Amino acid sequence: MTKKRVLITGAAGFLGSHLCDRFIKEGYFVMGMDNLITGDLRNIEHLFGNEDFIFYHHDVSKFVHVPGELDYILHFASPASPIDYLRIPIQTLKVGSLGIHHLLGLAKAKNARLLIASTSEVYGDPLIHPQNEDYWGNVNPVGPRGVYDEAKRFQEAMTMAYHTYHGLETRIVRIFNTYGPRMRLNDGRVLPAFIGQALRGEDLTAFGDGTQTRSFCYVDDLVEGIYRLLLSDYAQPVNIGNPNEITINQFAEEIIKLTGTNQKVIYKPLPTDDPKQRKPDITRARTLLNWEPKVSREEGLKLTYEYFKSLPAERWNEEPYGRDFKK
Ligand code: UDP
Repeated sequence: MTKKRVLITGAAGFLGSHLCDRFIKEGYFVMGMDNLITGDLRNIEHLFGNEDFIFYHHDVSKFVHVPGELDYILHFASPASPIDYLRIPIQTLKVGSLGIHHLLGLAKAKNARLLIASTSEVYGDPLIHPQNEDYWGNVNPVGPRGVYDEAKRFQEAMTMAYHTYHGLETRIVRIFNTYGPRMRLNDGRVLPAFIGQALRGEDLTAFGDGTQTRSFCYVDDLVEGIYRLLLSDYAQPVNIGNPNEITINQFAEEIIKLTGTNQKVIYKPLPTDDPKQRKPDITRARTLLNWEPKVSREEGLKLTYEYFKSLPAERWNEEPYGRDFKK
């Protein structure tokens, strides 16, 4: 039987690389694509030489072509951490707009099903809690996060237009905060920031007063949800995330307990438009996909910490271009 063929953009990134692993494990031929602006080949090095994997070093904001048949496309290329999209705002907008247009065109030409990585950021700083998929969001288009939020919102609109106008098979996953091995230790997001600080023996930097909330999902749970959504027949957006909500202060305490050194929490200014609360309503995923997260935060954080601890110590010190990022 010929293998199903899937194109994964952002393949060298945190989520993209885990998706490559999962689809290879499920018996697919995987084409990974990345321009390596924020991705890291070390995340997929183990796949080079695997006959079910090929890597294309390419920027999807430019015309995209891959040879042969294509069954699925997963569009995961995008800067995804606040300091990344502040550093490279135009690329962030382009990958969510020009990039999705190219991939939709490719999906149409190849008669492939396309799944896009959308985000809880489409809800902005939400005025309802928890957030369900019918909420339209509270986004500041011209604030620093607007480049990411609006690119992702445009991406959803464009994908839905191809679905309704061209009858293309599409799926939209709205991803809430996710963590696990292969995050970039210097990407500025709260978990790699805290764990990196703990490994280097620095104090943990909570932004604002640390009372803002997030709900953290372990990467394996997220990948399972995405896999089920792709194979479902549901074209409307679906939240995938873990509804277990905590404050950033609580999260810092958990990291301090886990890493067992004697760091303190120190406070830094809250970035502009930082959402005050975030928790997914996952009723839709539960009902339609029979999915819910299985990995507890205690277990997931332990696995993640073990991974970062096992990296060569020079990687703990790779220059975080956002270390002096304030707002
Ligand atoms: N945060 C923090 N200290 C850090 C990095 C982030 O307190 O060193 C806060 C940030 O202000 C936000 C939350 O942690 O309220 C999650 O931030 P992250 O960048 O991980 O993702 P976001 O959910 O904001 O996209």
